[in-house]
Amino acid sequence: MGTSSDDGGVTSRPRAESWRPPASVVPLIDSHCHLDQDAFTDDRDAVLARARAAGVGRMITVGSGGPLASNRAAVAIAERDPDVFAAVAVHPHDAREVTDDTWDELRRLWKHPKVVAVGETGLDYYYEHSPADVQQRHLRRFVREAGRVGLPLVIHCRDAFPDLLRILAEEDAGSVGGVIHCFSGTPAEAEACLALGFALSFSGIVTFKTADRLREVVRLVPRDRILVETDAPFLAPLPHRGKRNEPALVRQVVEEVARVRALDVSEAARLTVANTERTFRLPPAR
Ligand SMILES: [Zn+2]
Ligand SMILES: [Zn+2]
Repeated sequence: MGTSSDDGGVTSRPRAESWRPPASVVPLIDSHCHLDQDAFTDDRDAVLARARAAGVGRMITVGSGGPLASNRAAVAIAERDPDVFAAVAVHPHDAREVTDDTWDELRRLWKHPKVVAVGETGLDYYYEHSPADVQQRHLRRFVREAGRVGLPLVIHCRDAFPDLLRILAEEDAGSVGGVIHCFSGTPAEAEACLALGFALSFSGIVTFKTADRLREVVRLVPRDRILVETDAPFLAPLPHRGKRNEPALVRQVVEEVARVRALDVSEAARLTVANTERTFRLPPAR
């Protein structure tokens, strides 16, 4: 789920006839989307077909929205599609709903061969749908569980970097590794996440006119630690801002990362695919 889903409504959909495949298709990867969400119920197959047509060879769908139903749905989608992998945890929004039974089921899901990460977990003090202390307690436990099961972490953080950085350090999360998804912090916060050993994933927010500070972060990340994502159905990049997002649109994020770093788009695509495959230890592409 996005760090600023208030910026990315899912109410209006791009009309199917307005979509055109790009002239040259460079392989891409969407490191973070939510294919199980209701926004995709009516046309999920078409969304996946558009992603492939746009060169988005593989996607990681993240269970998010309640403790378990969404995780089960994400795993089911990954089971049906060889190009889709799943991440499983409980979003900080829903931390207060976690029970002992939730942990039992999560442990079962983490052993599934298509589950490649523990996530998303983290801290969200912007919305604070769950109390901060409960979010912190669950984040610590997710870090430990990820270490135990041997999966990387997908971390969500909004308006909570001081506590996030302290907890990740105290829990030695760097030895587990993973990604800070939909990164929205300052350059200093980015440096601190990188020092802990995490990669940073950028969403369509980097295309927004007001995102100069975030583009500064894009410039400072070492080239082997940059990932891209849509966080679909949230956070559609320009020129689709405010509409439903989908994995095909990760191309706009890659193009912006390439522009900001003065890289060829194909080079930015190659880098972000390789970084995602390494971070999540994906099997070789088909
Ligand atoms: Zn998300
Ligand atoms: Zn998120």
